[in-house]
Amino acid sequence: MQVGGRVCTTARPRRTDSGTTETGEDMRTKHYETAEGFNAEAYSVKGWEGIAFRVRGWETEPDGDTEWSGYEVRTGNLVVRMLGDDRDYSVDPDDVAELAPEDYCTECGQVGCRHDGREGVR
Ligand SMILES: [Zn+2]
Repeated sequence: MQVGGRVCTTARPRRTDSGTTETGEDMRTKHYETAEGFNAEAYSVKGWEGIAFRVRGWETEPDGDTEWSGYEVRTGNLVVRMLGDDRDYSVDPDDVAELAPEDYCTECGQVGCRHDGREGVR
């Protein structure tokens, strides 16, 4: 796990929240509602090792009744977003695990990057 140096080699250009990406890929946001118990700063997601995510909430989708009920139903998945990114992903909650604050970089969202130079981290 030891990463040499304190320089962040993986930092990506910071995007604003204006809603566009340089590639123009599909970045539609997902609907979600607050997920109690998933309020830590960052999480790891199985299959995306090395990247820190923030949990946004339970994914919801319109169903046949939404038009008149106004309610969407939970899909059972969590909507997550990579730190520093602006795209939502839907993942199985079983694949989501809380990350300790010292285990990831707040600058680039990489697990193991020591760029942000928190005290006592070397
Ligand atoms: Zn970093």
